[in-house]
Parts: sequence; C-alpha cells; structure tokens
Amino acid sequence: MNQRMYGLGSKRSVIREIFEFGKKRAQEVGAESVYDFSLGNPSVNPPKQVEEVLEELLRTENPTALHGYTSAQGDFTVRKAISDYISKTHGVACDPDYIYMTCGAAASLVISLSALCEEGDEVITFAPYFTEYKVFTETAGAHLVALDSDPETFQIDFSLLNKAINPKTRAVLMNSPNNPSGVVYNEETIRRLAKMLTEKSAEYGKTIYLVTDEPYRELVYGGVKVPYLTAYYKNTLVCYSYSKSLSLPGERIGYIFVNPEAENAKELYLAVCGAGRAHGYVCAPSLFQKMIARCQGITSDVSVYEKNRDLLVGALREYGFTCVQPDGAFYLFVKTPEPDAGAFCEKAKKYDLLLVPGDDFGCKGYVRIAYCVSNDMIRRSLPAFKKLASEYGL
Ligand code: PLP
Repeated sequence: MNQRMYGLGSKRSVIREIFEFGKKRAQEVGAESVYDFSLGNPSVNPPKQVEEVLEELLRTENPTALHGYTSAQGDFTVRKAISDYISKTHGVACDPDYIYMTCGAAASLVISLSALCEEGDEVITFAPYFTEYKVFTETAGAHLVALDSDPETFQIDFSLLNKAINPKTRAVLMNSPNNPSGVVYNEETIRRLAKMLTEKSAEYGKTIYLVTDEPYRELVYGGVKVPYLTAYYKNTLVCYSYSKSLSLPGERIGYIFVNPEAENAKELYLAVCGAGRAHGYVCAPSLFQKMIARCQGITSDVSVYEKNRDLLVGALREYGFTCVQPDGAFYLFVKTPEPDAGAFCEKAKKYDLLLVPGDDFGCKGYVRIAYCVSNDMIRRSLPAFKKLASEYGL
C-alpha cells in the first residue's frame, strides 16, 4: 500500500483524539460537566432561508435534474449567481467561467494547490495555520514552509517572508479570518503582501500566486473589514466555503474563484478543472449548488459567536491569561503559562476543559479554544478556567 496514505489514515489528528476523549469522559461524568472546546463545528443553526430554499427545490424541481451530475465546474446558473454576488459586493472583476464549484474549502485548497504546483515547489504559509495545509500541500507534490507571525499581533512578519521567498516558491497560502488565532489581516498587511509578491515575482521572473482560504470571511465582529484579495493582488485564487458562513460543514459545498485578471488565468482555470478531475471530485453536490445560488449574501447569526467571544476573552483576561483579540472566526489562541502546551492541556483536562495544543498549528506555547459552543457551556466552564489559572499562580 501507499505508505504516505497509510500514515495519514492511521494517525488520528490531535483534535480528533481530544474530541473522542471528551465523548468518553461525558459518559463517565455527564455531558454537562465536560467543557469540550476542541472542534470547529458551527453551533448556530443554518439560516431559515436555507431550509426553505431546499424544501422548495425538492418540491418544484425535476428530481433527475436536481440530483443529477452538473458540469464538472458546477452548474452555470449557480456560478453566475456567485459571480454576480462577488462583483457587486466586492467591486472586483468576476466571471462565472472562472468559478469552480467544490466540496468545501478543503477540496478548494487541495485542488488549487494541485493546479499550481509541480513536484518540489514550495508553498509559504503563516503560523499559526490550519493543520491540514501540510497534507494538502504535500498531496500537490510541494513542500509547505511555515513562517512565524508577529507574536504581538499575529499579522505577517515581512522580514521573514522576504527571506523565505526563493525561486522554488510557487504560492503563498493565507487564511483570514484565521483558524486558530481569530486574527483578520488588516489592509496594511494585505498591501505590503501584494507589493512583496509583485516585486519577488519580477525578481525571479515567475508568477508567485496567492491562495486565500476564506471559510470565515463573513464571521467577523465589530464591523471589522476583510479586504477582498483580488482587488489588491491580481494573481489570486480565492478558496471559499459555505461550511461556516451558512453552518453547513457536513454538506460539502464551496468554490474556487480564479481571478480572470491573473497571469495565464484561462490556463490556470483549466488546471483547476484538471486537478478536480484528477482528485476524483466529478462535481460538487448538485442540490446544495442550487440552494447556494438562491442564498447569496445570507449568513448564519454571527452575533451568537460574538457574544461567546466577548464572554470568554473578558473572563480569561480577568483570570490572567493572555491572548490576541480575535476579530473573526470562532477561535481564541491563548498563550500558555508554561512553554509546553501539551502539558498545559493535560492540566486543563483535570478540570474537564478540553483544549487543543497550538503545536499542530505550527505554534508552540499556545492553545486553541473553539468557542463555537453554547454560551451556557462557556459560562459553566469559567470556574474551571479560574482554577486552572490559580494553579499557575496567575
Ligand atoms: N480552512 C480552514 C482555515 C478551516 O478552519 C477549515 C475547517 O475548519 C477548512 C479550511 C475546511 O473547511 P471545509 O469544511 O469547507 O472543507
């Protein structure tokens, strides 16, 4: 058998290990007494309109067409609705023939990286980063280079990026709002990134592409703006997903948008189609494509996550923990009072607090807290966090 695939299949991710532990522990002490902050599964219901549109489609559409294959890149009317929404909302050039429907952000990423990379290329990303980036990059035959971020802000450290880009660099992969830090890259960061990529592309006589992973684009708080990348850097592929914005992670629906103004955009789009084919995707789920076309601009109730963020950040800071203010997504990345985040998580487990060490996100000395849980659970967990803080004399 293929040893790489065996390795990937036989080793469960740390997050899954913790989640499984939580289920076992809940049987022992009762679910109410376990504070599981391990998984990024949305805790808010999908908007009512999603259900209504699905019901209407099931009632009115021809079933063979509704459940049948669509064209590999997705149904044209769906791509048109998305393209219209992107141009109208972000004021950028878009075109249905540069949208490729996918089974969520994970598929968008593995397809985009496979479309871009040749064996031995390098893809640069910024720690902390989503744990699966290494798997997706290596599947594309490339090597992931993770750079530390500015520890005060978790924005990009440009001196490190300047040194890291080299003739093997094919793409920079970024994620904002970020999992696990919750940080949104501000406009200044994006402008500097675009400038550096333009200069480095010229210096090495090759196009360095930007792949932007955006499942949390709409999950932002306090009016924070998430710059739309194609407006700043033309050689951009946007990897989008409805998993979080519409609370539909199990339905596997998203898309890739290749900027029509990118270098070799037509060929790149065809390479995206080829990569989707090579990975066996065939087409994105047909029913959910058609639903998406009628739900553009709709988002789950993000105020629920904002309340959770405020409660948790306020309490943890009061107890003496430190974290960068998360402006988006539903994660909090907390500095651990001892350098070994694994040891800290073990201590947290004594209080039935299930947290994820930052090591797997490429960042030692931090834990991730996924606050896409009920507000009530957060409230009940606070005495446990307080005891944990006291154990460290905070
Ligand atoms: N990218 C990031 C940063 C994520 O956090 C996730 C899921 O949690 C994904 C990609 C994968 O999302 P999807 O469910 O759309 O495949």
